Amino acid sequence: MKPSIPLGYYTASATPISPFPRLAADTKADVCIIGGGYTGLSAALHLAQAGARICLVEAKTVGSGASGRNGGQIHTGLRKEQAWLERRLGKVHARALWDLSEDAKDLIRKLVAEHSIACDLKPGVVVAAHNRRAVRALAEDTDHLARNYGYRQGRMLDGETTAQMLGTDVYPAARFDEGGGHLHPLRFVRGLAAAAARAGATLWENTPAQRIERRRGKVVVRCRGARITADRVLLACDAFSAGIAPKLAGYIGTIESFLMATAPLGEALNREILPCDAAVADTRHVLDYYRKSVDGRLLFAGGEAGLRHPKDIVKLVRPRMLRVFPALSGIPIAYAWSGTVGITRSRLPHFGKLSERVFFAHGYSGQGVALAVLGGKLLAEAAMGQRERFDVFARIRTKAFPGGALLRKPLLGAALAISRFADTR
Ligand SMILES: Cc1cc2nc3c(=O)[nH]c(=O)nc-3n(C[C@H](O)[C@H](O)[C@H](O)COP(=O)(O)OP(=O)(O)OC[C@H]3O[C@@H](n4cnc5c(N)ncnc54)[C@H](O)[C@@H]3O)c2cc1C
Repeated sequence: MKPSIPLGYYTASATPISPFPRLAADTKADVCIIGGGYTGLSAALHLAQAGARICLVEAKTVGSGASGRNGGQIHTGLRKEQAWLERRLGKVHARALWDLSEDAKDLIRKLVAEHSIACDLKPGVVVAAHNRRAVRALAEDTDHLARNYGYRQGRMLDGETTAQMLGTDVYPAARFDEGGGHLHPLRFVRGLAAAAARAGATLWENTPAQRIERRRGKVVVRCRGARITADRVLLACDAFSAGIAPKLAGYIGTIESFLMATAPLGEALNREILPCDAAVADTRHVLDYYRKSVDGRLLFAGGEAGLRHPKDIVKLVRPRMLRVFPALSGIPIAYAWSGTVGITRSRLPHFGKLSERVFFAHGYSGQGVALAVLGGKLLAEAAMGQRERFDVFARIRTKAFPGGALLRKPLLGAALAISRFADTR
């Protein structure tokens, strides 16, 4: 596992929280949670609120994985369109997944309000079509959601309106989704950690779990120098799951995604660039996604790497930003960072259990800001014996990536190269 690159702009703009200690002595818990991102912290919060004795171990610091370094975009639905899900899984299952994805967005708003998390939560996501074919697909999907799911918060924008709302004319059309939104990811994850601790969960940082063992009807999580004995263990390590659960290695792929933050744009550019203040993601496979920060910077992400990571993130991302916003050619780049996205072969989340006492939820495939928070809540429900909602995700049949331990990464890298080529057509 390697969440070691600095958190860039987010660290600089989030209020520090008091560090949690390192686990130094054996301890016991009802539930031990491994991983301090949205999934683990949401599970900890919900279980602690239900009165369970919770011990959460985080290898580094809370939010140091994807949860503290992502694009902050809250998307509607899953990575696959509902019509695709209906064809693959049937209408009933697709509907249940849709309902949960809507619950996921509501859960964020509820947690932010209930725990007064100051994370700059704002409404609005624009999905920007990168070509005519994408416009047709987006329009069909928008129509499908309105007709079959009663979802009317998404509406198509023509090229002119898109240009007015985004401050760029590179897209032929877009969908504005009032039901989506964006937030400051590190402030949000730290807010969740503080809420979980207030609810009674015990959090340990700089405490990597090394092994999970079964012992006399309990599960023992071995960390360096200490162990935790628990009734249940929840794995919330997303892209890093294989490190603690080698059985999951084939099911979770990793892609590095690259972000940067400009210097503050100044009044005139701030008015010109992205005046609608929504988050934007385009429809490419290797997509551009961006939004503005509350202090008037453009946070722009683009480019992915499966195998070799670029040494100079700005060199990779800045040309992509200038293609969309040439007016930013004179604006300095103040921060650049990257993060590891956990993906599955189907791009749908992967939930399940390794034994009757060990559950996992990961592989949100770039849509985890909302889904991982819900994933944590569903893990909490499963740990308490209520598996109905957890099973809606666990019922999705997830295939392993091809290639086995040796070829899996190179094949994923090749697939990424093919996607990049497809984006150019
Ligand atoms: C650059 C980037 C941009 C993204 N942008 C978006 C976006 O705009 N919108 C969206 O919806 N999603 C986005 N995502 C995805 C989203 O951030 C993730 O799906 C989500 O944060 C996953 O949360 P998590 O808690 O499951 O995993 P993480 O936040 O990765 O947390 C896992 C934690 O487990 C810890 N860990 C690992 N192994 C161990 C161990 N052995 N012992 C103890 N701890 C361990 C890690 O240190 C880490 O902190 C993005 C991801 C990245 C990387």
